[in-house]
Amino acid sequence: MAIYGLDIGGTKIETAIFDDDLNLVECWRVETPTLNYQTFLATIEKQISKADKISSHRSNVGIGMPGLINSQGQVLSANIPCATEQFIKRDLQSRLNRPVSIKNDTRLFALSEATGGAGASYQRVFGAIIGTGAAGGLCVDGCLEESSLGIAGEYGHLPLSAQLQQKYQLPILRCGCGLTGCVESYIAGPGIENLYLHFTGKAETAMFWGQQLKEGDLRANKILACYLDILGETFAALVKLQEPDVIVLGGGLSLVNEIVEHLPQAIEQHLFSGFKAPKVTSAKFGDSSGVRGAAILGKH
Ligand SMILES: [Zn+2]
Repeated sequence: MAIYGLDIGGTKIETAIFDDDLNLVECWRVETPTLNYQTFLATIEKQISKADKISSHRSNVGIGMPGLINSQGQVLSANIPCATEQFIKRDLQSRLNRPVSIKNDTRLFALSEATGGAGASYQRVFGAIIGTGAAGGLCVDGCLEESSLGIAGEYGHLPLSAQLQQKYQLPILRCGCGLTGCVESYIAGPGIENLYLHFTGKAETAMFWGQQLKEGDLRANKILACYLDILGETFAALVKLQEPDVIVLGGGLSLVNEIVEHLPQAIEQHLFSGFKAPKVTSAKFGDSSGVRGAAILGKH
């Protein structure tokens, strides 16, 4: 038996074949056609034919991609314009003649970490990506929560609180989603750059900030304190709504030890006095979580 997982990004489509125990058998990448929907579908069809040949099997297909994907499998994605408003699930099922499941890639990150990953021994697992964007998903007893609009998990688009805006005199920024003042503008990778500019007047990358942090730079630490305050308040809101037992972090900023280490304390600053934050840990599967989560989805 084999299971297929596809991770469709704005630049690459990664296809992976797993065995029944989720061991990776083979994976490869091709460019994502982003402008023509028929070319986009044909490219996916080609990868599935290839996977059928390699595995001598016809497996179900699980797909993860950026954007909002509703329960009908209709997509809203800024990264892949040709897919926006299309019913990808329906169109692929008729081309491929087999069941196709599709979900937002950060929700599948959560599913992957809840299934044999860093969240495996917990009942309520929130997987959170802090990278180019900030989003995730909640798994209960190893299953992703289902929602009809596909919005649940978009914690990056909660608003920055007035309290923190005033405390740090932060600029109120317009978010790529169309709203204003979303926390993503401060807590994702580009958010670090916004904070850096605010505190120092200089434009630097998140990577440069990470390096300065390692060297013990004072301003980099001041930015970290503000960053943790905002991320802590955001995850405290998540705890008040969904109370995960563990928060598993993925994405580029989850590689900054100072963030993972100090986040529980930052969450507790914004929780009721005397209450403990959930456990916070880094992802087990890192970059392979996308295809792995997609395969688990396909298997179900
Ligand atoms: Zn937003």
